[in-house]
Amino acid sequence: MRSATTSIAIDRDRLLHRLGELAQIGRIQGTSGCSRLALTDADRAGRDLVRTWMEDLGLTVRIDGIGNVIATTHHGGGDGPGSGPAPVMAGSHIDTVATGGRYDGNLGVIAGLEVIETVLAAGVELHRPLAVGFFTDEEGSRFPPDMLGSLVYAGGLSLENALAIVGIDGAVVGEELDRIGYLGPAPLPGPAPHAFVELHIEQGPVLESEGIRIGVVEGVQGISWTELRITGQSNHAGTTPMPLRRDAGLAAARIACFVRDLAVELGGSQVGTVGAITLAPNLVNVVAAEATMTVDLRNTDDVALSEAERRLELCVSGVERSEGVTVAMRRLAQYEPVSFDPEVVAIVEKVAGQMELPSRRMPSGAGHDAQMMARICPTGMIFVPSAGGISHNPAEHTEPDDLEAGANVLLATMLELAEARW
Ligand SMILES: [Zn+2]
Repeated sequence: MRSATTSIAIDRDRLLHRLGELAQIGRIQGTSGCSRLALTDADRAGRDLVRTWMEDLGLTVRIDGIGNVIATTHHGGGDGPGSGPAPVMAGSHIDTVATGGRYDGNLGVIAGLEVIETVLAAGVELHRPLAVGFFTDEEGSRFPPDMLGSLVYAGGLSLENALAIVGIDGAVVGEELDRIGYLGPAPLPGPAPHAFVELHIEQGPVLESEGIRIGVVEGVQGISWTELRITGQSNHAGTTPMPLRRDAGLAAARIACFVRDLAVELGGSQVGTVGAITLAPNLVNVVAAEATMTVDLRNTDDVALSEAERRLELCVSGVERSEGVTVAMRRLAQYEPVSFDPEVVAIVEKVAGQMELPSRRMPSGAGHDAQMMARICPTGMIFVPSAGGISHNPAEHTEPDDLEAGANVLLATMLELAEARW
């Protein structure tokens, strides 16, 4: 590799300025956060701004049928997909949840743009073109499922089905895309890049608490959501002897404790959460007749996650017998874990080390567009710390030094991928 490519760095002020400018759109008054739900007028305004920046850099901007916007550098005469080498691509999303922060998603897009501007300004010639994109409706807050744009790009859902999705407000994806002017002609599934790298805030507390600057993301955890409806018998809290009770509340409590113990016992990346329990009739002097609860299990290891699901079922059967209740289980969501490309992961780790930035390998607990792109090309992710681990909250914050460091790791990673003659 030529040393010139490792000596260039992104423009911190330009990066921060663009992040700030984009955050003005849909800004939540009195906070530094944003509300730009997918395919709303605010999303359109954010899209228009980022697209203008892409066009100002002279990039070829393509909009596909689900509204993903991808900008590519010109390279060696050919600039269409399939003509010349496939690009090394950065990207993420610019839609937010209704109470969003300014960095979730936006950082990966603006930093990708910054990488390209830096490379163009330095006149570095690469073996491969570079690209940056933003995917439609990553958050899924208005139109489920989340990661919709990247899912369709990677061929995981047909365009026809995606365009017909009805949102929480009754709006239809295809109609809203048309209304805001982002129902584009580029074909789907989209062309596979040479490699894809997503810079994102961690959205968790691990990096900050350990004083680490860069998260080298090895994969995305698998997720299993189950709803349990427990039926017992309501009865008088004073007159019903303990051995004769069929207490749905106690059964829920036993299962909740089991989930905690299970996660600790399985160890590794296993986490388990009972985030919701409702009792009926929910009165101080009545044994609960019914309990409805949720169990969220996550693990980066598919086999271990299946084992956790199996053990939960065994626990539930045992509680049915011991407490005299019946339990109906319903699977709400199930996504397999995703492992990122070992070579891309190794490059991210290496360049962070070269920059003397403390790093650690880690899984992502949240879903990201990168997990969809991992279906079609070598993919990796870079995390930077989230202050207090807070995200999906207007108070979301990442220190400017960390934003800059993450963008420089993205730059060096993309340069290495674009020069490598695989
Ligand atoms: Zn995000």
